[in-house]
Amino acid sequence: MNAATTTAPLLKVENLVKQFPIKGGLLGRVVDHVHAVDGVSFELAAGETLGVVGESGCGKSTTGRCILRLIEPTSGQVWFEGRSVTGADKTALRALARDMQIIFQDPYASLNPRMTVGAIVGEALTIHKLTKTAHEYEDRIVHLLETVGLSADHLRRFPHEFSGGQRQRIGIARALAVSPKLIVCDEAVSALDVSIQAQVINLLEDLREQFKLSYVFIAHDLSVVEHISHRVAVMYLGRIVEIAPAKLLYTDPKHPYTEALLSAVPIPDPSVKRKRIPLQGDVPSPIRPPPGCHFHTRCPIAQKGLCDVEKPQLKQTAEGHLVACHLRG
Ligand code: SF4
Repeated sequence: MNAATTTAPLLKVENLVKQFPIKGGLLGRVVDHVHAVDGVSFELAAGETLGVVGESGCGKSTTGRCILRLIEPTSGQVWFEGRSVTGADKTALRALARDMQIIFQDPYASLNPRMTVGAIVGEALTIHKLTKTAHEYEDRIVHLLETVGLSADHLRRFPHEFSGGQRQRIGIARALAVSPKLIVCDEAVSALDVSIQAQVINLLEDLREQFKLSYVFIAHDLSVVEHISHRVAVMYLGRIVEIAPAKLLYTDPKHPYTEALLSAVPIPDPSVKRKRIPLQGDVPSPIRPPPGCHFHTRCPIAQKGLCDVEKPQLKQTAEGHLVACHLRG
């Protein structure tokens, strides 16, 4: 079942699959595949934030990059405002790139160290010919820097002169330069200290209001996405195993994997006790994911002969709450 929103979607992802070939032998033939994304479907409404969470290697970042076609999906469909992203040619993709932007985890690696902050933020203005005069160009960059909490003084400085949080603000200003409607935040705050994380998340929330943005907010930690997300999707080995309005997912998780992830999230109120559900073992290799339910090798309630054989489909358990589990769906 598709994880649908109630309003017309801004973004629609249908049965997205990405397999990375593994080459080997003397002739460099394809000997196997990494099954990074295995049939992901969801919709995102305008102004909505969807948190996407899972351990590393679950395919969340690959999903984000396939949506923007920074990585070519193996199969599946992506639509943005009814326009096919997966079917777009170079020209159409360039137009779509103005509407869909990405912010990366490591702002230092994604910012050219030899370019000034002004040049980094202004690059897209030049590519898309968004300003007419040098004066307008500089004004626009200063305005973007101020919007993200930096200033005109930073214009001629280089990325290494900034802290991690400030560098992420530069990345956000760069993404905002083309006035996008959707931003994929790919582990955008994961590398930052907790207090800086909160500042950047607050900034992203303010910008969402101010510019009517939508986010696909990717993180490996449920606590990070809790406050910014309207809905949250939990991924495991390339599949969405649960997707629900954020409140529902945090108060009434259905999937055993979500329960385990949630049990590790600290609760600020010390009087509230949460039973820790330890996850056994590591995430299995995405080269040969376990058959049936991918989670059956680590699931505390797995049923032999069912979970290791049949793939569970996403089923609705409450309004907007979908879970892929034979015993909880
Ligand atoms: Fe566990 Fe089976 Fe549900 Fe998978 S389908 S989560 S193995 S109970």
